[in-house]
Amino acid sequence: RKLGVALVGLGKYSEGQLGPALKETKNCRLAGIVTGTPDKVDKWKREYDIPDKNVYNYETFDQMADNPDIDIVYIVLPDAMHADYTIRAAQAGKHVICEKPMALNSADCQRMIDACNKAGKKLSIGYRLHFEPHNLEMMRLGQRTVFGRVNQIIAENGQDQSENESPWRLGKGTLNGKPMPGGGPLHDVGVYAIQGAIYTKGEVPVSVTAKYHPITDKEKFSEVEQGVDFQMQFADGSVANCRTSFNEKYNILRAEAANGWFELQPAYAYDGLKGKTSQGDMDIENVNQQARQMDAFADCILNNKPTSVPGEMGLRDVQLIEAIERAAKTGTKVSTQEVRKVLDST
Ligand code: NAD
Repeated sequence: RKLGVALVGLGKYSEGQLGPALKETKNCRLAGIVTGTPDKVDKWKREYDIPDKNVYNYETFDQMADNPDIDIVYIVLPDAMHADYTIRAAQAGKHVICEKPMALNSADCQRMIDACNKAGKKLSIGYRLHFEPHNLEMMRLGQRTVFGRVNQIIAENGQDQSENESPWRLGKGTLNGKPMPGGGPLHDVGVYAIQGAIYTKGEVPVSVTAKYHPITDKEKFSEVEQGVDFQMQFADGSVANCRTSFNEKYNILRAEAANGWFELQPAYAYDGLKGKTSQGDMDIENVNQQARQMDAFADCILNNKPTSVPGEMGLRDVQLIEAIERAAKTGTKVSTQEVRKVLDST
């Protein structure tokens, strides 16, 4: 049987990527929606053949507990809302996929993990690139030291974030009439650079240093940083030089190893990824990443296997974001001793 997924939050990512991907999945299907915008309901019902009884809003959300059509709740809300809705979904007895970044702080991540454990439900993070063949090749080449030891990684992800698209990304959102915390490039897109460096090296860094970019647009960046350069240092002396921004575009993951190099550019996109090594082009096809990601999670549930992108990995990355922020604020090297050592090995 195909497991039923309910998408929570019908914004850009649900509409443009997750909904369409759920037309291609084999182990799961779109069974329900949760939205606070009644105008969106008809279009989604028609497009995906969703019955009225599987349409919820944020007040009726918890009633999903009584709906056997829904096995997995997928949280696709602004980051500040991830923790509460993940916990409510677990309490309703559902498995959960929560979008990245897992939450605004590591304490919330831990609460989410605890709630899912207590409910006996699985929790995974929407890390689609762990199911994407170019990125899987970076993991293989790096972790198996195919070109020798990886000495330096360059991981940069930046995008020009417009002010009016999603105000919450610039720290200007509201929730129940009050300012909503969160946002900023490090949380939103820098997390891909953190991820890329770790899964290429196959290690969690031992320390980080960081520096905020100067703010050139004071109005746009009144609430969040404009960008950050950060370095992650690994135990063997190798480093990852990373960069993220909401004002400049970059999209690269590159590894320099003892006997060659390998890279993706673009590395973190939904489609059109391209890879090269010091021996020539990678000949790898682009696939529907989100369909693979959701099918893999459904398979973990159906066959009671652990997910390769668990809540603990989301917590690890939020702990690293906190360490990078501390390093940028203090101008010091920050140890990551406390960070969870969670790895997705090839
Ligand atoms: P979006 O702003 O387009 O959508 C957010 C949705 O949440 C909207 O449907 C909105 O109506 C709803 N919402 C409910 N309460 C809200 C409130 N108080 N303020 C604002 N919106 C509210 O954002 P998006 O781009 O779809 O991102 C949603 C989540 O998905 C984020 O966590 C983001 O990081 C993640 N995301 C992940 C990827 C990926 O590749 N994995 C890509 C894009 C977004």
